[in-house]
Amino acid sequence: MPVPVSQMWTVSSYVLRQKLAGRKQYPLVLMLEPLFRCNLACAGCGKIQYPAHILKKDLSPEECFRAVDECGAPMVSIPGGEPLMHPQIGEIIEGLVARKKYIYLCTNALLLKEKIHLFKPSKYLTFSVHLDGQREEHDLAVCREGGYDIAVDAVKEALRRGFRVTTNTTLFDGANPKSVRAFFDEMMDLGVEGMMLSPGYSYDKAPDQKHFLGRARTRRMFRAILSNRKKNWQFNLSPLFLEFLMGKRTYPCTPWGMPTYNVFGWQKPCYLLQDGYAESFAELLGTTEWSNYGTESGNPACANCMVHSGYEASAVNATFSSLGGFLATVKATLFTRYRDEEALRLLDEPQAPVNPLVQIAPPLRRESLQETRV
Ligand code: SF4
Repeated sequence: MPVPVSQMWTVSSYVLRQKLAGRKQYPLVLMLEPLFRCNLACAGCGKIQYPAHILKKDLSPEECFRAVDECGAPMVSIPGGEPLMHPQIGEIIEGLVARKKYIYLCTNALLLKEKIHLFKPSKYLTFSVHLDGQREEHDLAVCREGGYDIAVDAVKEALRRGFRVTTNTTLFDGANPKSVRAFFDEMMDLGVEGMMLSPGYSYDKAPDQKHFLGRARTRRMFRAILSNRKKNWQFNLSPLFLEFLMGKRTYPCTPWGMPTYNVFGWQKPCYLLQDGYAESFAELLGTTEWSNYGTESGNPACANCMVHSGYEASAVNATFSSLGGFLATVKATLFTRYRDEEALRLLDEPQAPVNPLVQIAPPLRRESLQETRV
């Protein structure tokens, strides 16, 4: 089942209104982090390494509502931490549904069956279940044996109860493109609405610093995975963002498109970096030195970044910026399967052995991760 028409209409009309108003910087998705606590400790995560007194903090429902109202984005993504560990998550979701926001509650689903009674099925609410591949790959990525089976079981239960469910998948270096494609088949067979994808970001706080992708390797991997697509694969992402991942398009980063609000305030400049905080969304827009960020800026922290929170809003903006962008989006959505012989060959390339994603030796210097600058 694709994204509901009402959601497409809400988002499209919102972006067009921003364009007509001449706004160059507008938010598309608010990344609302109501807590940093988690019941997993994934090796590639940069969010859970805070001291205990920070990990204990929660945003109150009122703080969440104030941020959502102030920002005005039509969609709200709730990552974390694990949002289902928030003691008032039911109340937060109820308040956001009442505001007619399209919510993606990002969860590892370990607690989903236990907490599902807190929620009512709604076109506004989607459980975005974190699954990083097939059973073995996912359990390795989240450092938890059995995590895949629990998540899949919860997905089935949520679907049975009539909830919207998508998956969100972060791919690291060493991901096997054939296995990722088989994972897509599994998820479509399960009946999820769509799949979200992003390359991992090289958080300097993450325990595992060896498995983040450089830009050239990112493109090569996504070309192998996303070319020669099966007709039934559904992605909950801009088709132009997928082309960006495959190396068919370039975009500048537009971090204001997916601003982050958490227990520290409005995070500068993006979901991934922490170069200070603002007290209001207006202050975030007005006081961040945006030219210091993005691949073209020369900022080493941005050199290899292709993550969706920096670049998907850029792709959506491109759709609505010209007739060519709009037609390219229609073509990519309806007609293109990306036939590519070279990509088929890439699928058969022998895979380099991958070390388990576990706590490892001291982090590499950030400079060593800058494999490519384009
Ligand atoms: S390029 Fe990545 S790290 Fe840099 S500002 Fe954009 S999203 Fe953040």
